Amino acid sequence: MKTITWKGGARCAVSLGIDVDGESLWLSRDPENARRPGVLSQGAYGPKVGVPLLLDLLERFAMRATFFVPGWVAEQYPDVVERIHRMGHEVGHHGYQHEWPDPDRPDEEEANFLKGMAALERVTGERPIGFRSPAWELTPRTLPLLREHGFAYSSNLMDDLAPYVHPEGLVELPVQWLLDDAPYFMFQTRPPSRPIWPAELVEKAWLEEFHGLYGLGGHFNLTVHPQFIGRPGRLRMLERVLSTVLSYPDVWVAPLRDVARYWKEAHE
Ligand SMILES: [Zn+2]
Repeated sequence: MKTITWKGGARCAVSLGIDVDGESLWLSRDPENARRPGVLSQGAYGPKVGVPLLLDLLERFAMRATFFVPGWVAEQYPDVVERIHRMGHEVGHHGYQHEWPDPDRPDEEEANFLKGMAALERVTGERPIGFRSPAWELTPRTLPLLREHGFAYSSNLMDDLAPYVHPEGLVELPVQWLLDDAPYFMFQTRPPSRPIWPAELVEKAWLEEFHGLYGLGGHFNLTVHPQFIGRPGRLRMLERVLSTVLSYPDVWVAPLRDVARYWKEAHE
């Protein structure tokens, strides 16, 4: 991998993407969950408790993050999303009701995409420029759709350690399941489920990867969900991870829109 020079001569970029899925995560897995208030309450914890706690944590670090919000969640919790926007964080597109796009139904994908975008625009007064698909699932229609609607970046693919530019100019900001809280913390009573990991082990996994990326000069693009990371013990772990990461010299911390903009300008 060739050495990357990040903004201000930094050797590593760090971003936090916060997927505010709320109940839509559970509704998209099984529409029957609409009749299971207990299941839905796991999702509601995100916008209700997790987001305010995360906003406080970000203020302590004077850090700006990218919140990916499904349009349906923006409609259910306009005050929460408006507050995120007002505090200077980026609000990105995350589908309408957290649906996984079906490659055999491109019209449905487009309709949900437009519905999600309109809902975010109504709440924040701004069009999103970044897209993260639910569960990072894309179809052959997704990237063309982003280009047609003037998006600056996608943050969905897993084939690099640093950003790259797709044909026709869309920037990709790669992700990885390793740097996502869901595989470690997402538990459900119905199969398939996973065991719940202690936060201490997740801290270890994330910092191991940070040290590796710092050595190579990549992009530490961490993904969390307020309904999972928003538990008090896990928030303390996230705080420790951010403190460690920010204690390194030459680290550039930025929301994804800024990373995409920098990458595009630096590579044109
Ligand atoms: Zn999501």
